[in-house]
Amino acid sequence: MLEKTIRDLFLTYPQVLYGFTDTSYSAYADAYQSALVFAVPYGAQLTLETYAEEAFEKGIQDARKIVEEILIKLEKLLVEQEIKYHIPPVAQNNETDLEAPFSFKFAAVNAGLGWIGKNDVVITKRYGPRVRLSAILIDTPFAYGEKITESLCPETCRNCVDACPHKALHDTRWNIDSVRSDLIDYKLCNKKRSLAIKTLGRKHACGLCMAACSFGT
Ligand code: SF4
Ligand code: SF4
Repeated sequence: MLEKTIRDLFLTYPQVLYGFTDTSYSAYADAYQSALVFAVPYGAQLTLETYAEEAFEKGIQDARKIVEEILIKLEKLLVEQEIKYHIPPVAQNNETDLEAPFSFKFAAVNAGLGWIGKNDVVITKRYGPRVRLSAILIDTPFAYGEKITESLCPETCRNCVDACPHKALHDTRWNIDSVRSDLIDYKLCNKKRSLAIKTLGRKHACGLCMAACSFGT
């Protein structure tokens, strides 16, 4: 019943990808049986030819508005049905590990939405990496998606690796046992993007390694 209501809600957002996964792999397994994870395409689906930082940032913010709209609707129906849920924060706990308490990326892989590209972000077949992820933990079972365990990046593709101006990507193909540092020097990426805080009042959106991806364009 709940699952059908949620699926009906997503019928009104045909551009949004979504799926369910169990949480047995996560620190939330005892409190919530499942995670609903969804991917909202960025407002602008930029390529290297059309890329501009401001446009990229705007595309992210446009997607964020849709994410928030969907979360409000989901929350309303979970409250109505008196089902325990939790919306995990997007932000990292600290600037050292740069990891959120609940990984949307890992949930997306487990729900079958995509794999992790050489650029360390989720790659969907439909939009490539140009999506904003969100998730909600729900304490009830669902029909789960099929977990993806291997990269579908072409063996020889290194478009994202070459697009990074700081050489932060290691040209490594992901699999389910990979750790983030196998793929990216995330501290370097964060350090370079953080330099913009002084001038822009926010981290540089960058995204060159996403715009470069041939999936979704
Ligand atoms: S976001 Fe920018 S700095 Fe970070 S890995 Fe991608 S291209 Fe490099
Ligand atoms: S640009 Fe190529 S290697 Fe990088 S994430 Fe996309 S498909 Fe994978």
